[in-house]
Amino acid sequence: MREPVYYSGSAEFFDTHAHIYDQKYAECNTSAEDILQRCRASGVTSMLIAADSEETSRLAIDLANRCDGYSGVALYASCGVHPHEAKTYTEDTEKYLRSCLEARREQKIMALGEIGLDYYYDLSERSVQKAVFERQLGLAYEYDVPIILHERDATGDCLDILRRFYKEGRMRSLPGVCHCSSCSLEASQELIKMGFYLGFDGPLTFKNNKKTPEVALNTPWDRIVIETDSPYLTPEPNRGCINEPCHVPYVCSKLAEIKGVTIDEAAQITYDNGKMLFGVN
Ligand SMILES: [Zn+2]
Repeated sequence: MREPVYYSGSAEFFDTHAHIYDQKYAECNTSAEDILQRCRASGVTSMLIAADSEETSRLAIDLANRCDGYSGVALYASCGVHPHEAKTYTEDTEKYLRSCLEARREQKIMALGEIGLDYYYDLSERSVQKAVFERQLGLAYEYDVPIILHERDATGDCLDILRRFYKEGRMRSLPGVCHCSSCSLEASQELIKMGFYLGFDGPLTFKNNKKTPEVALNTPWDRIVIETDSPYLTPEPNRGCINEPCHVPYVCSKLAEIKGVTIDEAAQITYDNGKMLFGVN
C-alpha cells in the first residue's frame, strides 16, 4: 500500500522524467488523469513525459498536448530512440524525429531522448547503439534542443562520443541532462564541465546506495534536476509499488537532506533548473 500524499507545503515540483504512458498503468487501471490528480495533490505542477522509441514518442507527444494543464499540471514531451531500441532505427525513424523537431514549439517537445548507450542489457549491438546515438546527437545540435542521456555500464564509450561532439563545437552550451545519474564522481564532473545537468531519482533514496548521494553532494546546485522515471525506480518508502510522479517529493526531500537545505528550497531550485534546462517559460 502506497504511503499517503507526502507533501502538503507550498513548494512546486518539476518531475523532469516520467513515462506515464507506460502499459503498466493500464494494467493497474490507472489513467493519466488519475496520475495528474495525484501530482497536483503532492505539489508536482510540471512534468516532462520522456519517450524511448518512435511509438512512445507518439504517445508522449499526444499526452503532453491532450492533457496539458489537467489538474493544474503543465506537461512537456520528448521524442527519441533509446539504445535498447537502436536496432529499430531507420531512415524513416529519422524522418519522423525530424518532423517532430520541426514542430517542437507547437507540439511541446522540449528535448531529444532518451538517447545514449546501454551495455548492461545490450539489447542492440554496441556498434549500432553508438551509430544511432551519434545520429541523434547530430539532430539535437541541428535543431538546438537538449538531450536526455541514458547511460548504463557504458561510461567510457559514452564520454568518448560526447567529448568528440564537444570538441568539434557540435554541442549546445546546455547540452542536456544525464538522466538517472549513476556514473562515477569523476565522470559526473566531466559531464558537468561540458554543461550537462544531472537527474536524480529513486536510487538516491535507496539505503544501500552510497555512490549517488556522494555525486549529488558534489554537484553544483545549478546542475541538478529531479525525476521519477515512473513507473520504475520507486523511491523509499514506497519501494516495491509502481512509481508515479507524485513521488518526486521523496527524491527532493533526500536531496535537501544531503545538501543541508529545506525541501522548499530544494524544490524551488530544481524547479527553476528544470525550466532552464528545457527552455520552459
Ligand atoms: Zn526513462
